[in-house]
Amino acid sequence: KSGFISIIGRPNVGKSTFLNRVIGQKIAIMSDKPQTTRNKVQGVLTTNDSQMIFIDTPGIHKPKHKLGDFMLKVSKNTLREVDVIMFMVNAEQKLGKGDEFILEMLAGNPTPVFLVINKIDQIHPDELMGIIDSYKERYDFAEIVPISALQGNNVENLLATLSKYL
Ligand code: GDP
Ligand code: MG
Repeated sequence: KSGFISIIGRPNVGKSTFLNRVIGQKIAIMSDKPQTTRNKVQGVLTTNDSQMIFIDTPGIHKPKHKLGDFMLKVSKNTLREVDVIMFMVNAEQKLGKGDEFILEMLAGNPTPVFLVINKIDQIHPDELMGIIDSYKERYDFAEIVPISALQGNNVENLLATLSKYL
């Protein structure tokens, strides 16, 4: 099993920290799935039974700038070509404008979207349900997975769940 996963989310939510944790080895991409040059490979995770290729989608990271129609279209099309979209948010922050921008961009996309709630080491467990509910109102996520990319909590579970979608 192999597939492409796009990690999107506001700056500082922990995307790089997550990638640094999971990318143990970098090897040649053996996937037979078509790849477009607009997808920048950030890392490859190879396990016994799966290969996950994490890619960057340009244009998603600039919610403060008004994107041209073209850029928006390119980013949207890229998100259609991946197997899973990981939408990462910070458990410490309320759903903000940057998140709204991304959720609007995802609207109508057929690709399964995981809501990954990161930095759960920073919140009280009782707060988690409220956070989940606020995002659930806004989008029909395929999976909702709380993690701590820094400490590693639930990261194995996230990877196992991702592999089911490849
Ligand atoms: P990115 O901009 O989304 O790539 O975010 P980074 O991976 O650069 O992380 C931004 C900051 O958040 C860094 O200082 C990280 O150490 C911190 N961070 C990332 N993940 C976690 C986490 O799970 N818990 C805590 N407490 N801090 C985190
Ligand atoms: Mg980063």
